[in-house]
Amino acid sequence: MRSVLLGPPGAGKGTQAVRLAQRLDVPAISTGDIFRANIAGDTPLGRTARSYTDVGKLVPDEVTNDMVRSRLAEPDVAKGFLLDGYPRNTAQACELEKMLEALGTKLDVVVEITADTDEVVARLLGRAKIEGRVDDTEEVIRHRLEVYARSTAPLTDFYAERGQLVRVDGMGTVDDVAERLAAALPTPGV
Ligand code: AMP
Repeated sequence: MRSVLLGPPGAGKGTQAVRLAQRLDVPAISTGDIFRANIAGDTPLGRTARSYTDVGKLVPDEVTNDMVRSRLAEPDVAKGFLLDGYPRNTAQACELEKMLEALGTKLDVVVEITADTDEVVARLLGRAKIEGRVDDTEEVIRHRLEVYARSTAPLTDFYAERGQLVRVDGMGTVDDVAERLAAALPTPGV
């Protein structure tokens, strides 16, 4: 199964992506996690990404697309993948289509986890206290939500037009949402 998880920051994408990928037996690929690992390791990619991630801006498409292209070339992806945090705009979505075409394949499903803004801001501020992410300050959170609304939310139309979009309500407990996701997705092997 080749899938994408969409949803605003704070909708619980990361948590759900890990669970869902386990269930589908595919790697969860989080571009945010890959950037954070590179920043922590002070790699050239990390040094490029940092000036953007710190302030909640999107890392330039060429950098992000190249990173995803090399990740999708790794052998564990042959059985499928769950992308979390990519694509983030229409240009990335078009690039992803080309990457998959080159590999002779395409996406099976795109899942949008929906959540209301007050709830996601509250969740992100709560997470800031626990994880201490530099991009979880109120100002940066607001900016990330704006970027989502402007650049990423239009992707739901992009995928709906292709008949690939499924929407899942992200409100409630982690278990509630995980159950809804399991129910919304085709079962592997069936
Ligand atoms: P996330 O963990 O998905 O919230 O991502 C954290 C930050 O990493 C974002 O605010 C962006 O700065 C950067 N990032 C993650 N994924 C992408 C992407 N697909 N395109 C550009 N920047 C990204």
